[in-house]
Amino acid sequence: NQEDQKTDIQEFKLEADQELRFEVESKSEKVYLSLKSGLAEVFGTEIVKGKLYEFTAGAKIAVFTWHGCVLEIRGKTDVIYVAKETPMVVYSNCHAALEFMRNEAEKENCKGPTVMVVGPCDVGKSTVSRILLNYAVREGRRPIYVDLDSGQGQISIPGTVGALLIERPASIDEGFAQEAPLIYHFGHKSHEKNTALFSILTTQLANNIKDKLEVNKRARASGIVINTCGWIKGEGYKQLLNNTKVFEVDIILVLDQERLYNELVRDVPDFVKVIFLQKSGGVVERSKSARAEARDQRIREYFYGTLRSSLYPHSFDMKWSELKIYKIGAPAIPDSCLPLGMKPKDHMTKLVLLSPNLGLLHHILAVSFCESGEDDIIKTHVAGFVCVTNVDIDRQLITLLSPQPKPLPNNILIMSDLQFMDSH
Ligand code: ADP
Repeated sequence: NQEDQKTDIQEFKLEADQELRFEVESKSEKVYLSLKSGLAEVFGTEIVKGKLYEFTAGAKIAVFTWHGCVLEIRGKTDVIYVAKETPMVVYSNCHAALEFMRNEAEKENCKGPTVMVVGPCDVGKSTVSRILLNYAVREGRRPIYVDLDSGQGQISIPGTVGALLIERPASIDEGFAQEAPLIYHFGHKSHEKNTALFSILTTQLANNIKDKLEVNKRARASGIVINTCGWIKGEGYKQLLNNTKVFEVDIILVLDQERLYNELVRDVPDFVKVIFLQKSGGVVERSKSARAEARDQRIREYFYGTLRSSLYPHSFDMKWSELKIYKIGAPAIPDSCLPLGMKPKDHMTKLVLLSPNLGLLHHILAVSFCESGEDDIIKTHVAGFVCVTNVDIDRQLITLLSPQPKPLPNNILIMSDLQFMDSH
């Protein structure tokens, strides 16, 4: 009723350099944001005055203003406050330094800066990546976004690593447009599960991007922004060093953790600049269940789209004999039994052809682009994903949920650890 709605409308007047932070938790709530006057942005994307932006459960938002503004919020938020202290000036200085390097790169017709954002979980790595990309594209750049966070990444679905050419700012409520992403299947939400495979994929991704940049001058000068996952100890740290090497990183932005900063200063070559950045006080820690929910949501959106743009996936049966379904990683062999020349970790990158089994139910399968030999399947990027919604052992059929109708672009599929319960 009208009375209730009225009490749910709040107006906020922000001074220059302040931000309004709010969170939506409840699944039944929707919160609407609009800009009444002045200028404001959400993680680097400008808000259009008078337009209504919708946020649902899980949204954790900061609306920042460089010049002051008036904002209106409708609906029930769980947390809402105006913050006077933000690290936005520092982030904007980072952007200015990158722009300087891009200008130089443009003049010399060489590669612009490759920046890698690192730090523990929940320090705002994805947010900083998004801000830097948005600022770059607003200046007319076409940077490449690489997301190596296979758990909470912003490209494609969880269980992958990938890259996206950024041609316009992220949509405020839906993130970056997922047009023609370059996606590699990893199959796990955390890198720990298969570090050998992860290293192979990052090298493939880096080489593929290098080739793309050779033929795209504008993207070449714009450079790359790499987002990473929060696993920064032991093997996770080694992966960061490996990323630095394979992507030829020029600048590492370390969020929040001085120890990591010092380790990197010690371990990377001198020509790589390592910069420490404070995390924003607004970054919200996510619980394990919130992370799981966010992963689920991404997969649901892959098949069914979002509130604003629905998608209508297809469901069809396939004969087992029409498909080749693989899993990456064979059971470990004791060191003493390893064939000559095989390293203990090699089994982790072995392809195993699966026979029909109920264990596939609800699993995501990546549809490979690979056309030939088994060796290439692991190293080839993927066309997209399907989900197994039924396995009929007797009739040797499986039912797939797919964004596209039959036939699939390829009959080579790779099983992911990630599952999705199709409740539609
Ligand atoms: P990380 O990539 O390090 O795990 P994220 O960038 O994903 O961290 O940030 C964690 C959460 O905090 C996200 O939901 C993001 O929207 C939110 N967030 C980031 N910065 C702010 C801020 N200044 N105010 C409010 N929420 C924020």
